[in-house]
Amino acid sequence: MISGGNVEEAAYNGDGTLVNSGEFDGLPAEEGKRRIVERLIALRRGQPSVQYKLRDWLISRQRYWGPPIPIIHCPKDGPVAVPEEDLPVLLPAVEDFRPRGTGLSPLATVEEWVHVPCPKCGEPARRETDVSDTFLDSAWYHLRYPSTDFDDVPFDKERTDTWLPVNMYIGGNEHAVRHLLYARFVMRVLYDMGLVPAPEPYTRFRAHGMIIMDGAKMSKSRGNVLNPDEYIERYGADTVRLFMMYLGPYTLGGDFRDKGIAGMTRFINRTWRATQLATGDDTTDDSRERRRHRLIKQVEEDIAELRYNTAIAYLMEFARDLDHESSAGSARRIDAETLLKLLAPFAPFVTEELWERTGHESSVHERGTWPAYDAELAAPQRASVAITVNGKRRAELEVDAGTPEDTLTALALANPRVVELLGGRTPRKVIAVVDRIVNIVTD
Ligand SMILES: [Zn+2]
Repeated sequence: MISGGNVEEAAYNGDGTLVNSGEFDGLPAEEGKRRIVERLIALRRGQPSVQYKLRDWLISRQRYWGPPIPIIHCPKDGPVAVPEEDLPVLLPAVEDFRPRGTGLSPLATVEEWVHVPCPKCGEPARRETDVSDTFLDSAWYHLRYPSTDFDDVPFDKERTDTWLPVNMYIGGNEHAVRHLLYARFVMRVLYDMGLVPAPEPYTRFRAHGMIIMDGAKMSKSRGNVLNPDEYIERYGADTVRLFMMYLGPYTLGGDFRDKGIAGMTRFINRTWRATQLATGDDTTDDSRERRRHRLIKQVEEDIAELRYNTAIAYLMEFARDLDHESSAGSARRIDAETLLKLLAPFAPFVTEELWERTGHESSVHERGTWPAYDAELAAPQRASVAITVNGKRRAELEVDAGTPEDTLTALALANPRVVELLGGRTPRKVIAVVDRIVNIVTD
């Protein structure tokens, strides 16, 4: 029985410190390891070495199912490749394809299939009876994808040169160890043979995170497995998708808590209302143009880096502003269109509906719809903020426009000139005005 409140939630699996290790006691694990090895070297009783845990890659297996390895063993010529016109080597039809536990493939017993003349010298020879493992196929499928319409070659050189290497590979962390390493083996060999344009198959890899539920890992025994269908039924697919992407950084995952969905519903409702009421055509408003260009840049850059959660945060902030402006009758149509275009990848259904309702005949998802930004307009604006001490101008801060009051106050109080003038005294009052001034008053 567990009593008391001091129960660990999970096993500790971080680094610790050394115990029962004589003079090395208390050292952090990494440093301890290093120091012990240094001692062994000094005593000439050991040498540092790295032990790799990767095993030999399994290519051949002793079973029936799989592509036979196209090699013929000749007593005179050794292993000889099956001539191209005889490829592929098909599996023979057999009655009993179960493994025999003898270390020999079931194919080895199919005498009429095994015995063939050597392609080189014509003398009696034997086929290789192992088949290749499925890992081999998953290690080069990226080469086949662009060339699936070619029957005579595994991949077309021109297509491969155009499309490879793959820009981004997204998978679970379990892929990072074996599958991706094997894919690199295959690609390296083909590159050395001059058959592929790059030595690495994938330029970037990102492992996705895991969604947990109310702070706990989902599992059937806990009965907290999330069924997205129920939520989609209740809130709509766009809302649920936005919510999932907003939960946390894509590579870290996030905690799924029901009550957060309401925030996404509000966001969709605001967008629904504001975009249909935004009819203003003022394109001369400099600050709104800057805001719009900045939004495009932020969302575009965040999507490229899989920072979907922050991209959505920018869109939510923008929708909130637009909603206020539409209530006041001043919302601009171009802002509404920009919002719909940028939101379209995250909420494809509702944006398509709104795109039509706001008078467009084409699809919001059509190629070429994505907006462009002007780098100069998108750049954050700077502001000079004066610092006064007891009414006298003493220093100046160069900050991003819109830097909030508490940040301005902190920056002003850390300014060397101000520190010197205060001489350790705590100011009686500090008044900061965004983009303008910080007034410091002492007794
Ligand atoms: Zn031979």
